[in-house]
Amino acid sequence: MAYCRNCGAPISDKAVICPRCGVAQSGSGESLNDSGSLGWGVLSFFLPIVGLILFLVWRQEKPKSARVSGIGALIGTGVNVLLSIGTLIFNVVLMAAAVSAVAV
Ligand SMILES: [Zn+2]
Repeated sequence: MAYCRNCGAPISDKAVICPRCGVAQSGSGESLNDSGSLGWGVLSFFLPIVGLILFLVWRQEKPKSARVSGIGALIGTGVNVLLSIGTLIFNVVLMAAAVSAVAV
């Protein structure tokens, strides 16, 4: 059960317009689900692809959750890129050391 944002009368959760005063209850049902929970950010951090998809799907109807997912995906991607570059540099150094060891 929800309450009218204008007159406070108890109305259905799915009511678009209050039957008593006629004021539109726009987006009240959706904003309840749009918690912007940090869990989505954590999920997106570990699975940036999922975060990107959630961001694109939720952009319109759940802007808060979409933002948290997008930021999580962005940070997750950044960390992944940094780790990849670090691994690459490590491999190059290792390879150079191996080559010079063989050459000597
Ligand atoms: Zn009302």
